[in-house]
Amino acid sequence: MSVACVELNGSIVLNNGTTVTRAWLTDELTTGAPAGNPTQTLTGFFFPGLVDAHCHIGLDAQGATSDHAARQQAHATWHSGVTLVRDAGSPRDTRFLDGEPNTPSIIRAGRHIARPRRYIRHFAWELDDPQQLPAAIEAQAKAGDGWVKIVADWIDRSTGQLAPLWTRRQLVEGIARAHDLGARVTAHTFSTAALDDLFDAGIDGIEHGTGMTADHMARAADAAVPVTPTLLQVGRFSQIADQGHRYPLFARQMRAMGERRYDHVAHMVEAGVKLLVGTDAGGTIEHGRIADECAELVAAGVPAPRVMDAATWQARAFLAAAPRAARLPAAVVGYENDPRRDITELHRPRHIVAPWRG
Ligand SMILES: [Zn+2]
Repeated sequence: MSVACVELNGSIVLNNGTTVTRAWLTDELTTGAPAGNPTQTLTGFFFPGLVDAHCHIGLDAQGATSDHAARQQAHATWHSGVTLVRDAGSPRDTRFLDGEPNTPSIIRAGRHIARPRRYIRHFAWELDDPQQLPAAIEAQAKAGDGWVKIVADWIDRSTGQLAPLWTRRQLVEGIARAHDLGARVTAHTFSTAALDDLFDAGIDGIEHGTGMTADHMARAADAAVPVTPTLLQVGRFSQIADQGHRYPLFARQMRAMGERRYDHVAHMVEAGVKLLVGTDAGGTIEHGRIADECAELVAAGVPAPRVMDAATWQARAFLAAAPRAARLPAAVVGYENDPRRDITELHRPRHIVAPWRG
């Protein structure tokens, strides 16, 4: 099958972050004019397609979705300008979506791993015995596309507080097994208590990260471990606190972390932590909300150009550098106005182009 060639004019950010005034999109985004005439010429502000680095296609509030609902989630994601997703765990195998039109490329983490009564029911693979963690990580490392997602903390109802799900030793062994298989591991954390063991064990990514102290931020920056702040989700912490009102310590902690969320993310950026942008859609948040998540990061004080870098070429480069990364197909999203000047422009993607999708 021949690949279409689209000529882009205006302002085009390439996959290495440089901006040019003319480029071509075939099976790659290039500044060298390909042979033959372009099949289409477009004008505007173009970026490598947005990357939602934390969402769950195939998951809704009840758990695994139908195939039909998973497809609708994928379409909503695509139409928001997202051409690449790193899923953060899904109970539904979504491989049937591969290659469908209006569907982002999905880098899968298999099923996320938790324990009974220590996460939202019906979402994750729940291990009765936490000693099974290394074997479970190994199984998901084999099932996914080079990423594994673990739930590292949740409320412990016996103490009424957030607490780690795993021991340091289980994490060290589990993450080592993933690394042996060329897979990376990212961890859901809300708490402070879970973080030292994760960093000691060589974790590759932190999701939410609301409990990170200045020391944790320094460790993340030093080790180039990215954090996905999921501000839309953290903005819901007061609701989670209301649901957990029988656990006053937990409720107070969640409320406090929710309230300080913008300052906390601003501190991460000051500390040099690499950010990924993730909506945490699937479960309670609707798919297709990357524009809102980017606006939240701007509200936290991250300059819009940096948000655009994080949400596009930097995320793509980070995911492409993973040991088991497949070649990422070229795609761009284009806007009439520059979202680096006004992030609300992300609500109006004008062109979402992936020639390999025909
Ligand atoms: Zn999530």
